[in-house]
Amino acid sequence: LTVTDLVKASFDRITDIDDKIGAFLRLNEEAALTQAKQLDEKLANGDVETEQVLFGLPIGIKDNIVTKGLVTTCGSQLLNKFDPLYDATVVEKLQEVETVTVGKLNMDEFAMGSSNENSSYKQVKNPWDLTRVPGGSSGGSAAAVASGEVPFALGSDTGGSIRQPAAYCGVVGLKPTYGRVSRYGLVAFASSLDQIGPLTNTVEDSAYVLQQIAGYDKRDSTSAEINVPDFLKALTGDIKGLKIGVPKEYLGEGVNEQVKEKVKEALAKLEELGASWEEVSLPHSKYALATYYLLASSEASANLARFDGIRYGDRKQADDLLSTYKKTRSEGFGDEVKRRIMLGTFALSSGYYDAYYKKAQKVRTLIKQDFEDLFLNYDVLIGPTAPTTAFKIGEKMDDPLTMYANDILTIPMNLAGVPAISVPCGFSDGLPIGLQIIGKHFDEETVLKVAHAFE
Ligand code: GLN
Repeated sequence: LTVTDLVKASFDRITDIDDKIGAFLRLNEEAALTQAKQLDEKLANGDVETEQVLFGLPIGIKDNIVTKGLVTTCGSQLLNKFDPLYDATVVEKLQEVETVTVGKLNMDEFAMGSSNENSSYKQVKNPWDLTRVPGGSSGGSAAAVASGEVPFALGSDTGGSIRQPAAYCGVVGLKPTYGRVSRYGLVAFASSLDQIGPLTNTVEDSAYVLQQIAGYDKRDSTSAEINVPDFLKALTGDIKGLKIGVPKEYLGEGVNEQVKEKVKEALAKLEELGASWEEVSLPHSKYALATYYLLASSEASANLARFDGIRYGDRKQADDLLSTYKKTRSEGFGDEVKRRIMLGTFALSSGYYDAYYKKAQKVRTLIKQDFEDLFLNYDVLIGPTAPTTAFKIGEKMDDPLTMYANDILTIPMNLAGVPAISVPCGFSDGLPIGLQIIGKHFDEETVLKVAHAFE
């Protein structure tokens, strides 16, 4: 098998099925095949170290991660011509081990959404049932891996956008600790919450990708100067004596019975492997959704100010500067993005700032403390990734609040900054269910270890 074979196989699969799935917004075929040829020459010359596991593997990249010379739209019409001048740090790091970027993956516009229905280009379909959503906002990344188009993909997770689509599509999705992976070159949605992470078929693959993309980056002031351990070494299969907390709020009202059933079966399996679990409580989790939508929208309203047609974005020229801004933004942004910008601008306006934004920041601290308190006594927390399996396309589109409520189980980890993974744990009516394993800050090792033992 050559790298060219591998890369061609990826493009063949995309040609065969992506009309139905809609995972890719853009392909990078010519450059990818040229690179593959060069890598094959390297291999023939014996220039490749055998431990380079990711060497030559085709990869898909979510379209809010910038790629030099490869248009990056964030799923938005506003950026339909944005051709970045540089690569994101994660892209550079993957290039160091010579992965091959086959294309850019569909997503909800500016990563705002849970179903991919907010992509301004096309709908991604769930590979398990084409009438259902793949989840979001990294729906393209999850669907591309689940349908065998690429062995792994990068996504971003601000409030569940890696884990929830991973759960809906039956793949593994990891949100690392806030600060573990550089966000340099990730188009910012909510800077205090955004993290990049891998979507893969297995936990081992997830560990390999995380190993490669993790680490301090001086170009991202929020990336942590902290040692990156050997994540592969953590995959021992041994979880004897491990203590698991199961937040009762995550198995309560609103969570589908089949989903609860599978999570309980998963806990029984972990018990068999020598771990023990107890019911615990995250008392402030009921405020997580309100807190998140205030903070995320506030940060988004500030971050998205740069898309004005002058600094960034497809300019819609009008008579004067203000009209140009207005025309560019009203024609370029979709409804959900506008909704968030309005909500965030309102929350940050003088007179309301203390009542909303400042209050939400205080509640965020309480939510984070809930996690820290539990981690004094437990190694990991476990629950479902999402309250239901993948819902029907169109089902929640007219009701943003029901759509937002879907993120209730993934959002608290972003507010707390802790790492969490979603691994497949069974099916309900032919649709995959995700098990969520949550760890201490910077303890992806234990998260991966438990996920790997369970898998
Ligand atoms: N669904 C959530 C939202 O719409 C989370 C999105 C994300 O993690 N990028 O904000």
